[in-house]
Amino acid sequence: MSSHFITVCQDCGYKSPFLPGSPACPKCGSLWRDAVYDYANLAYTLPFVLPGRPFDIWRYRELLPIRDPNPDLSLGEGGTPLIHANNLGMMLGLPNLYIKDERQGPTSSFKDRQAALMMASLKEAGINEMVCASTGNVAISYSAYAARAGIKLWAFLTSLVPAAKMREVALYGTQVVKITGTYDEAKQMAAEFAKQRNLFLDLGTRSIPCLESMKTVAFELAEQLTALLGRDEKNGQTAPWRSPDWYLQAVSGGLGPLGVMKGFNELHTMGLIPNPPQIGIIQAEGCAPMVHAWRQHKDVAIPVKSPNTLIATLATGDPGRTYTQIYKKMDEAKGGAIESVTDEEAFRAMHFLAKMEGLSIEPAAAVAFAGLVKLVRAGKIKSNEIVVVNCTGHTMPIERNILGEGWEHNIDLSADDLAEDGREEGLLAALSTVALDRFPRIAIVDDEPNVRTLIRRILQSQGNYQLFEANNGKDAVEMIAREQPNLILLDLMMPDMDGFQVMDALQLKKETKDIPIIVITAKELTVAENKRLKGHIQTLMQKGDFMNDDLLDEVRALLK
Ligand SMILES: [Zn+2]
Repeated sequence: MSSHFITVCQDCGYKSPFLPGSPACPKCGSLWRDAVYDYANLAYTLPFVLPGRPFDIWRYRELLPIRDPNPDLSLGEGGTPLIHANNLGMMLGLPNLYIKDERQGPTSSFKDRQAALMMASLKEAGINEMVCASTGNVAISYSAYAARAGIKLWAFLTSLVPAAKMREVALYGTQVVKITGTYDEAKQMAAEFAKQRNLFLDLGTRSIPCLESMKTVAFELAEQLTALLGRDEKNGQTAPWRSPDWYLQAVSGGLGPLGVMKGFNELHTMGLIPNPPQIGIIQAEGCAPMVHAWRQHKDVAIPVKSPNTLIATLATGDPGRTYTQIYKKMDEAKGGAIESVTDEEAFRAMHFLAKMEGLSIEPAAAVAFAGLVKLVRAGKIKSNEIVVVNCTGHTMPIERNILGEGWEHNIDLSADDLAEDGREEGLLAALSTVALDRFPRIAIVDDEPNVRTLIRRILQSQGNYQLFEANNGKDAVEMIAREQPNLILLDLMMPDMDGFQVMDALQLKKETKDIPIIVITAKELTVAENKRLKGHIQTLMQKGDFMNDDLLDEVRALLK
């Protein structure tokens, strides 16, 4: 049976068919080969065959290294939702911010695409045992799909992989080999083990099914964005699908973004999208070999020998040739960014994703969002651009490390003094001990409901506050006198009684004149206006400045 694609060796250019069990170039032995499809033909046929197919990775089977997808092996991989991040977008000034929610895959990570295609490909080739090394998520995905396909899996995991993840791997029947060493060492051990036993070894980026599977993220995004926003008609574009302006992903080894880039490039080659997006690759600062090389304009990354990050999933110290390929592609595209963020920034992002968008994400995915904030602040990502962030991952026991103490309200109903006869009273008394009023009190005064909501969300995303709102000056003065907040956030430009008049009114009363005020304004102030503020207020902030931590820092400083 003739194949619908061919492999081309990256080193010698030799063209050969794809056999899953023979990963090397038959001519020069190189493990680096590209899958190439009949793009001219597909450009014509693809738009006709897609409608009516289910929204999963097999929808794009003509662009995958598989002959005959077996539905019995499927767990519903791919076809994840694209979520409009309305609140986070408002905070960052990005109205077109979207989240590709890969948490909703069968094992909660984007690696499900890879596992599904890898196992299907091995089954097609009659291979029933394999070896992989993993920082966690790959092993879980592979284990689930291997179990389904009846393939025996050996997973080499570093001891940094959280115990909960390791147990999940074992639950699927995978043989877990725990390596007390780095991920790169685990990879070496896995390779040696596979060689000794003559078993199939997962080669990550060099395994054609692995890389090809990631293209489906790009294909889905193009279809989803087109459905949401219509086709991209600026500059007379006639391509049927749309692509984002930016695609961001946290990386460990780099397989994900490299595959997604290939997907977008193929769509572009076929004329289905006007342009591929710029790629934002985000690493954890304690293990960021790509970032170091990128900053020095080098196409080879120097391996990080001892990764120093709590985010074990991202601790690939040596990205090898994957980075070189990413560098080449980004250099050709003359765009994109490779950036790093600290663990602390990532943990903060976990908070705001959960509290602003209702998404509990794993630290590795939070790295991408922390990177988003950084790229927006640096002006790399512009407010009119369409941005997609890949969100993946298991929630794992790291909450313990980022949540701290005192987040729960305790009610103990086991106490003896809750006698039967007085039980109802006892319950009410117990409820009243829940100290809802122990948090700092903040008044928000603004006539625009959107701004009040935004400020509320920003404050709630990073701390516990008791918030009071007023939408005009008159109500604000009354409310402040009544509630005695510890701090006031005050809009200057309001109809009828404006912020200046509110301040004057507060000055007249002994109980309100000393409450600190942060003034929030949408415009530059005149000299006269500035003069009126002198002595009254603590801080002046511009609307739209909220994306950085200034507002929170000011709030915290003034509450002390
Ligand atoms: Zn070759």
